[in-house]
Amino acid sequence: MKNKAVKNVVIVGGGTAGWISAAVIKRLIGQGVNVNLIESEEIGTVGVGEATIPPIITLNNVLGLDEKEFIRETNATMKLAIKFENWRVDGESYFHTFGAPGKSYAFCHFHHYFKRAQELGVKDSIWDYDLNYLACQAGKFAHIKSPDPIIEMPYAYHFDASLYARFLRKKCEEMGVVRTEGMITSVQQNPEDGFISGVTLSDGREIKGDLFIDCSGFKGLLTQQTLNTGYEDWSHWLPCDRAVAMPSERLENTLPYTRSIAHSAGWQWRIPLQHRNGNGLVYSSNYYSDDQALDILASNLDTKPLAEPNFIKFRTGRRRKQWNKNVIAVGLSSGFLEPLESTSIHLIQSAVVRLIHLFPHEGIKQKQVDEYNKQSQLEFEQIRDFIILHYHVNERDDSHFWKDLREMDVPESLTHKMELFRESGNLFREQNDLFLESSWLQVLMGQGVTQRDYHPLAKSLSEQKILDLMHNIKRIKNEPIGKISSHDDFLKQYCGN
Ligand code: FAD
Repeated sequence: MKNKAVKNVVIVGGGTAGWISAAVIKRLIGQGVNVNLIESEEIGTVGVGEATIPPIITLNNVLGLDEKEFIRETNATMKLAIKFENWRVDGESYFHTFGAPGKSYAFCHFHHYFKRAQELGVKDSIWDYDLNYLACQAGKFAHIKSPDPIIEMPYAYHFDASLYARFLRKKCEEMGVVRTEGMITSVQQNPEDGFISGVTLSDGREIKGDLFIDCSGFKGLLTQQTLNTGYEDWSHWLPCDRAVAMPSERLENTLPYTRSIAHSAGWQWRIPLQHRNGNGLVYSSNYYSDDQALDILASNLDTKPLAEPNFIKFRTGRRRKQWNKNVIAVGLSSGFLEPLESTSIHLIQSAVVRLIHLFPHEGIKQKQVDEYNKQSQLEFEQIRDFIILHYHVNERDDSHFWKDLREMDVPESLTHKMELFRESGNLFREQNDLFLESSWLQVLMGQGVTQRDYHPLAKSLSEQKILDLMHNIKRIKNEPIGKISSHDDFLKQYCGN
C-alpha cells in the first residue's frame, strides 16, 4: 500500500477545506490524478469563517480566479487590518494592520528610530506611519501599486465562506473534479498496515482511493474516528471553547477592517460583508452560559439580526499528526485555533501547498510524511504563540478570566520573544513564521509591552536627522490617502456592486 503510486485522491468534506484542497490539487497536479470529493448536504458545513489574511491573494491567483468575479460571487469586501478594542484595558484600542509602520531597514527596524523620536518629543503613535492604518481611519481602499515598498498597502478580504466554497466547486467541476453527494457510514482499512482503502456511503456505494484528504470538520472522520491520531490540547493557554455567530444587516459604510472587541470572558468579531455583517462571540463556557453569551452578542449588534444564532463548540489544539498513514487532515479536522487572527482558512491553504510540495507521486515515503508533520507542527505552534500574546499581556481587571491569562505560564518560545523585545526592542522572524516582525510589533505595542532600549544605529543619528526621517515618512505615507476613494466607492467602481 505504502509504495503504491497515488492516482486516486478522495477528499472527504465539502466545506472551505474540501473545496480549496480539491481546487489546488486538481489545478497543480492536473491530469496526473483523479480527484473525488464527497460531501453530505444533510450534515452541512460549520457555516462560519469570513475574515482572511493576505496570502489568500496568492491562492486565488494560483487558482486563476479573477478578482472582480471573486468579489462579486462571494460578497467580499476589502480587509486592511484588525482593530483590537478593549484588549489591553477597557476603552483603548489598537490596530494590527497588514502593512508595516514606517520603512524597512536592513540592520535596524523602524521602531528603533521611532523610539528615539519619541524621546525627542515626537507625540505620534507608530500607526501614524502606516498606510494601511491611515486608510482604515479614512474608510478608504485602492489597489496601490508602487515600485517603492514604503507605499504598498497589503490587503485581504472579508467574504462569505460558503459562497467561496460554492464558487470553488464550480471551478473544480469545470476542471474535472468529481463531486459525490452522500453520507459516509463506514471506512475500510487495509488489514496489513491500517491504510484506508475506501469509504462506503449510506446507500451502499463504495469509493476507493490511494490518498485521502480528511476535510470532514471537527470530528475528523478519518484521522480521528478511524485512525485515532490523537489531539494536543492547548485549552490551558487558550481557554475559550465556544462561539455563537449571528449575522446582521449591513452597515451604511463598509469598514475596510475587522473589529475584535474584548469582553469580560471572550471577544466579539464584527466583519463587514457587502450584503450583511458577520458577528460572533468567542467565549469560555467556564464563565458564560450559552444564554449569557447570546445576550452579550445580541445586545452588542450594530444592526438588526438576520438569522437564528449558530452555537459552535471547539477545543483549541492540533491533531498530533497532520499526516497519518494515507490520510492528510486539512481544515478543522487538523486542529483549531480561534479566529482571532483569521488564520484557519490560511492553514488550509498552507496545508495543501505543503502537500503539493511533498505529493506522494511514487507512493508514500515516511521521510516525506515526517517532514510534512514537522512543518505543520511548527506552523500551528507559531500561530498559537501569537494568539496567546493577545490574551496574556493584558491589564484588564474585570474578571478572573483575564487575571488568570495574565498570570499563566506561556510557552517558552513566546516568553523568549517578549523578553527579547522588552530588553532591546529586538524582534526576529522565526523560521517561516506567518507573522512578520511588523505584526508582532503592533500586537506587542498595542497590548502595552514597551522596549527598554533601542538599537545603537538609531542612537547614532543626529536629532535633526531623526526628526527629518519621521517627517518625511509620515508625509509619504499620507500622500496616497487624499487621492483614493472610499471603500464603498471602490467596491462599486471595481466590481459594479
Ligand atoms: P466544515 O465546514 O465543517 O465541513 C465539513 C464537511 O465534511 C462538510 O461538507 C460535511 O458535509 C462533510 N462531512 C462530514 N462528515 C461527513 C460524512 N460522514 N459523510 C460525508 N460528508 C461528511 N477561519 C478563517 O479563516 N477566518 C475566520 O474569520 C474564521 N472564523 C471562524 C469562526 C468560528 C467560530 C469557527 C468555529 C471557525 C472559524 N474559522 C475561520 C474557521 C473556518 O470556519 C474553517 O476553517 C473552515 O470553514 C473550514 O471548515 P472545514 O471545511 O474544515 O469543515
